[in-house]
Amino acid sequence: MSDATWAELTAIKLRAPFPPSEILWKINARTQDKAKGLVSPYVDARAVQRRLDAIFGWDGWKADYKPILGDGTYAFICRLSVLLEDGDWLPKEDGADVTLIESTKGGISTALRRAAAAGLGIGRYLYNVPGQWVRLGGDGKKIEEQPVLPTWALPEGTTDPAPQTAVPLDPDETPSKEPGPLLGNDGVPLCPKCGGKMKDDRQARRDDMRKGVHARPAFMCENSDCGGFIESVARWCEDHGFDMDADTGDIVPRQADIDAAREPGEDG
Ligand SMILES: [Zn+2]
Repeated sequence: MSDATWAELTAIKLRAPFPPSEILWKINARTQDKAKGLVSPYVDARAVQRRLDAIFGWDGWKADYKPILGDGTYAFICRLSVLLEDGDWLPKEDGADVTLIESTKGGISTALRRAAAAGLGIGRYLYNVPGQWVRLGGDGKKIEEQPVLPTWALPEGTTDPAPQTAVPLDPDETPSKEPGPLLGNDGVPLCPKCGGKMKDDRQARRDDMRKGVHARPAFMCENSDCGGFIESVARWCEDHGFDMDADTGDIVPRQADIDAAREPGEDG
């Protein structure tokens, strides 16, 4: 640790997992009866700002927003700049479509969170946490069953992952245009077309290949009207940043992502 550079130490602090109390959950998909929802974790713009303050100081980072007209809808480009050790400003950019036409606040905070994740790695590990199906209330708008983060996505030394509060969603903060989770907590990828559950045909595909007949897709959408499918597990893992366990064939988060989240920070 002692011979690590300022940039290396800063990168570790930027990528460090957030404490469970700062994690919010968004609903990405619902069952038809709205009794269950597929949720994924995120951190809001305020948590991102607190981390930037802690690492760079309140005057060591700045964010500018530029509205642009996208495909018939307004979007925001966030230019997030941080002050480097040598006194230079390093700019990072990312955009977000407005989440609600009448609410520019949602678009701005989404643009900041995306610039922070893509440019600096803040909260990027959360994209690798599998989605979870949990019980919903309030006509499918409220999370009633507490989702749980995997141990690798918790700060080192977190003993009780329970206090992650299921916060009712603030519509301004709901990032509807952001990519949802890719993998369900049953280890089966979600439908690339509708985001719903998929039927696991991996064994049948292996049998097809052994017999030398035309191999069926590894996963088919359970909703037959949708028609979404995933042909090859290995290819899907390659394209979406997951690993396939060589022994079990299970789809698991890439070891490099787990290692990045697990690297000890200075305050850890
Ligand atoms: Zn589907």
